[in-house]
Amino acid sequence: MTYKVTLLPGDGIGPEVTEAARRVLEATGVAFEWEVAQVGAGVMAQYGTPLPEEALQSIRRNKIALKGPVTTPIGTGFRSVNVALRKELGLYACLRPCKTYPGVPSLYKDVDIVVVRENIEDLYAGIEFERGTAETTGIIKYINEAKKSKIGSDAGISIKVISETNSRRIVKYAFDYARKYQRTKVTAVHKANIMKFSDGLFLATARKVAKEYPDIPFEDRLVDNLAMQLVKNPQEYDVLVLPNLYGDIISDLCAGLVGGLGMAPGANIGEGVAVFEPTHGSAPKYAGQNKVNPMALMLSGVLMLRHLGEGTAADRLERAIAAVVAEGRNVTYDMKPPGKEAAAVGTKQVADAVIAKLA
Ligand code: NAD
Repeated sequence: MTYKVTLLPGDGIGPEVTEAARRVLEATGVAFEWEVAQVGAGVMAQYGTPLPEEALQSIRRNKIALKGPVTTPIGTGFRSVNVALRKELGLYACLRPCKTYPGVPSLYKDVDIVVVRENIEDLYAGIEFERGTAETTGIIKYINEAKKSKIGSDAGISIKVISETNSRRIVKYAFDYARKYQRTKVTAVHKANIMKFSDGLFLATARKVAKEYPDIPFEDRLVDNLAMQLVKNPQEYDVLVLPNLYGDIISDLCAGLVGGLGMAPGANIGEGVAVFEPTHGSAPKYAGQNKVNPMALMLSGVLMLRHLGEGTAADRLERAIAAVVAEGRNVTYDMKPPGKEAAAVGTKQVADAVIAKLA
């Protein structure tokens, strides 16, 4: 059968890494028909939005997309295309497996952590009030009166929203994932001692859900403590489930444990729709240089193959990537030991090497 997949090359290093991932996915022998759709700053002039309806409709139709990173201007300009995509398509779960492959330059061995991040609410819901506007002044006045607080008139405000419904859905997803892939435990991560009504609700909900999965061990950790423990002893952890902001930060930390952003894949999952993309961004300074590591997106392709039920092809592709890493010859600069970066190959050559291992 041929799988119709929406391909979003993105911008910056996106087009190079998506091309490399597309080539290795095709080399597995699984048949794909790619429907290419553009998003980001480059399409603003043509469509008046960085996320054209055409792209959204393509993903809704195909129910699956492989996506390169997209640049988000900082502090100004349009809102993140990535955040908008997650909201529009209801991609409530962000899955980020972080695994050490032998040969990866890392301080750690045998790390195998799966970060399950809530993807829609928390401080990322985009409910923000700009400093100095009439709306913000009114909200500050209300809070100061109701809570006897002293927020100054020069403050900006971002709202943290955590609901029982969305907490329940993400924690259930983490437990179902743990059961399906025979993982050993689930850890809920929070700061419920300080944020009692948001993180506290997340934790209370996680505890309730855990009771429905008596076969899977459950524990919880404060996020600051977890950050320290992950650096000290990452092998202690298996599936982590976190609200959006902590999930974002901790997944970058976990990427650092397994060789960096070049090795960190990801998937955004909704009801009947999924978008596969690396954890890393568009790294604009390296755009068009055939320099960066395409393995994070290739490994996102492995997740996509598993999602499609193509487990054998997924295992073959993962083994091929692991073999190239283990040999250490055809890898990009970030995978070379310090001082040996000059011997690195480019993005295209990594794809060639992976394809040779698949032959
Ligand atoms: P980044 O991940 O783009 O890059 C940070 C650094 O990590 C790079 O300078 C590079 O040294 C390294 N790096 C990243 N990807 C690499 C790869 N494949 N191979 C080797 N090294 C790699 O993060 P940033 O600089 O904070 O963000 C740049 C832009 O990307 C921003 O506009 C940000 O909003 C956007 N972004 C998009 C997504 C997404 O599309 N899902 C995710 C994160 C950031």
